[in-house]
This record gives sequence, C-alpha cells and structure tokens, in this order.
Amino acid sequence: MTTKISRRTFVQGIGAAAAVGAIGAPSLAFGAGKKVVVVGGGTAGATAARYVKMADSSIDVTIVEQNKDYFTCYLSNEVLGGDRDIDSIKFGYDGLKAIGINIVIDEVTGIDADKNTVSTKGGEKIEYDRCIVAPGVSFDYDKIEGYDEEVAEKIPHAWKAGPQTVTLRKQLEAMKDGGVVVIAPPNNPFRCPPGPYERAAQIAYYLKNHKPKSKIIIMDPKEKFSKMGLFTQGWEKFYGYGTDNSMISWHGAAEESGIESVDPKTGQMTNMFGDEIKSDVLNIIPDQKAGKIAIIAGLTNDKGWCPIDLKTFESTIHKNIHVIGDAAIAKGLPKSGYAANSEAKVCAAAVAALLAGKEVGVPSYVNTCYSVISKDYGISVASVHRLAKDGSKIIKVSGGLTPKDASDEMHKREVGYAYSWLKNITTDAFALK
Ligand SMILES: Cc1cc2nc3c(=O)[nH]c(=O)nc-3n(C[C@H](O)[C@H](O)[C@H](O)COP(=O)(O)OP(=O)(O)OC[C@H]3O[C@@H](n4cnc5c(N)ncnc54)[C@H](O)[C@@H]3O)c2cc1C
Repeated sequence: MTTKISRRTFVQGIGAAAAVGAIGAPSLAFGAGKKVVVVGGGTAGATAARYVKMADSSIDVTIVEQNKDYFTCYLSNEVLGGDRDIDSIKFGYDGLKAIGINIVIDEVTGIDADKNTVSTKGGEKIEYDRCIVAPGVSFDYDKIEGYDEEVAEKIPHAWKAGPQTVTLRKQLEAMKDGGVVVIAPPNNPFRCPPGPYERAAQIAYYLKNHKPKSKIIIMDPKEKFSKMGLFTQGWEKFYGYGTDNSMISWHGAAEESGIESVDPKTGQMTNMFGDEIKSDVLNIIPDQKAGKIAIIAGLTNDKGWCPIDLKTFESTIHKNIHVIGDAAIAKGLPKSGYAANSEAKVCAAAVAALLAGKEVGVPSYVNTCYSVISKDYGISVASVHRLAKDGSKIIKVSGGLTPKDASDEMHKREVGYAYSWLKNITTDAFALK
C-alpha cells in the first residue's frame, strides 16, 4: 500500500518534529520511477526512508537492515539502572512497511558506486538512483590489547543497545555488594558524548538502592566531558561525588586514566602508566569509527568517518551516495539520535529535490540530548544550527543547558521531556501509530 502525502503535510511534519528547514521540498511525482536504497534502518536510516517517501510517494524506497528489531541506544542506560525494560526500547518495521517502504532484512556487504547497486549477504543486488548510507558506528578494537569483538560478548561495551545491554545488566545483578564497576569511555569523537556519564549515574542509581557498598570507577582518556558541570552536580547530589564516601570516582587523562590492555579471563586491566586495576564488572567502550559497510564501500577518510556535503549529505568521495547519522562528519553536530533524525530530514528533502531536478534549499538542523541521572532528575542540552554561508560547517545559532540552579521540579520535568522525546522520535522514525 502506498500512502499519498501532500507537500504541505510533509513540510508540516518536518517543522513539528524537528524544525528542519526543508525549503525546496519537491512537488509530487517528479521522481517517478526513481529508486532510493537506504543502508541501515536505525534512527537515521528509518527517518530518511520515511521522509523521502513523504516528499514524493512515487519514489521506490527500500531499507536494507540486518536486524529484524531495532533497540534504541537512547534511554538504554535506564535498562542498566533497572527502571526500564529492554522491550520498551525495541522497535520493528511494520509501520514503515505500511506506508509503502520495502523492507529487506539482510546485511549489506557491498555498494558499487559505479554501477549504482547495493549487494547483500543473502545474494540480492538492488539498484538505486540515490543511496543513503546510515550504518551507525563500528569499534576500533586495535587500541586496547586483549579486547576484541569476541571478548565484547563477555565484557560488553553495550554501545549498541540490545543483547549486550541485557548481559551488562545481568552482570551488575550478579555482582556482590562491595564490588567495583569500571567504566572506560572512549576518545572523541564517539556516539553520544554524554552517554558514558549518564551510564555511570544509572549504574550508581541501581547500586545505591541494592548494593550500597559498591563503587564505580570511570577511567577516562579525556580531560573533560559533555555536560561535565551538570553531571558532577547530579553525582554530588545523589552519589556523594567529591566526598570520601563517593560511589563514583572519575579519573581523567591528566591523572592515571585510559585503558591500555585487559585480560579477558580475569577482567584485570592496566592503564596507560602500567598500573593494574581490578574490577568485578568491566564496561569498556572502545574508540569508534563509521559502520563497517561505509569503510568497505570506500566512503571513509583516513580517520574512519565519512566526509559529506553538509547541505545534501552527499558523500564527497562517491556521487549519488549520501551518508547520515553517526557515520557522517556533520561538522558542528554531535553524534546523537536527535541529530541523526534531523540530518535524515535534511538529506531526504535534498534527495527528493535532486531526483526531481530541483534546487536544494538551505537547511537548518536541531539537537537535544537528555540524560537521566537519578529517578526524577534529568538534565539536557539543546541547540539549533544553520549551514554556514560557505557551506563549510554547521553553525550553532541558539541553544542552552539545564541551568545549574534548576529546581527539583525542573529536573523532574527534564525526565518527562526525555520520555516523551523517546516516544516522539521513534513514532517519527518508524512511522508508528
Ligand atoms: C548508551 C547510549 C545512550 C544514548 N543516548 C542518547 C540520547 O539520550 N539522545 C540522543 O539523541 N542520542 C543518544 N545516543 C546516540 C544515538 O543512539 C545514536 O546517535 C543514534 O543511534 C545514531 O543513529 P544511526 O542511525 O546513525 O545509527 P544506529 O542507530 O546505530 O543505526 C544503524 C543501523 O544500521 C544497521 N546496519 C549497520 N550496518 C549494516 C549493514 N551492513 N547492513 C544492514 N544494516 C546495517 C544497524 O543494524 C542499525 O540498525 C545514545 C547512544 C548510546 C550508546
């Protein structure tokens, strides 16, 4: 079934959901018979597919996604804290199917930029006029001796939500009271800059209520981190941060942090100075780069991320291929779900315009990131962005953080906003009813 959506509805949808400047959205049916293939049906890919279809229902849109279910990483730290069930962040593709998008559950193994085809592990070859690549991140396992993809199943990074999130939660449940949890965040740039620190807070929330003699040590290779002032304030309020009895201790690069090696059998680590660190539960979050398929398809630079034109998200390496979400170098935007959704809308409007032979409008972009530190205590950072006149970067035009002197009521409201945002973004991306 194909749903007809007017241009007006499309622009309204964009405005309501994310204030994206979709100037130049094309008229209906200009792209008749054109094919768009989306690689990866996560937050970015699902949103892009839906908004291309909304822009022009005559475009044949296909998502190729390797998993039948998608688990949002956002709010997955609450699964570790114990206040959320993993099924509450699980989403499928029936809504997108119902609006006429083809869903292929398969792994993309190659993208031929000369022949305009996408090939899959299952043996399919799918033609496209424009391809949108949204594979998220992959992990740089070379940096920590002893840690690799196989070991990550036992010592989970849980930086792609799903089974590893559940494993980490079970390890926390099995840990004795008085145990030590070590979190090793990655170097920049990485998916969700505030994520490791929200994770520390959520684990502390669980331990405070169930295993109060336990400790969390954050071994960070960086000197500072996102929303640092607000996080430390929350840690102080709930987990004794900064006192002798603190549940959380954070060690930044200036001290003795940064994991160099791990023994997969014992979970014992050494830091960059050769000191030995023991843990009962270990959560290494490795350094990151673009999803593997972007690397295979030759879409990445020497740092492992995908350079793009910031107006259209078209790759500056291969024509007719666009890259969005965490894999892209969206200079000026963080690697977040909110930004991925916003980038997807800008890209969808550009792809539909290009297929219709129309001019692409000048976009704006938005981002908000919520972190839940304890029950009824949340913080956020929000920003609105616009493309620089010369197109070289995305400039922040306004934004703000939760104020440092915010009332308890305001922190409680931030949690409410976070939960309604989860509902809104997943309804938007996966065309839920
Ligand atoms: C713990 C944590 C907390 C977070 N909290 C927030 C938050 O509060 N707010 C926020 O805005 N963001 C948050 N994020 C970040 C957010 O989850 C990511 O930025 C977002 O998921 C990026 O979307 P994406 O579509 O680029 O990648 P993904 O969501 O990872 O989607 C990529 C998809 O591509 C598929 N794929 C990859 N390769 C292939 C292939 N070869 N073939 C077929 N399919 C493929 C994958 O299976 C996946 O479904 C958090 C992240 C973490 C880890």
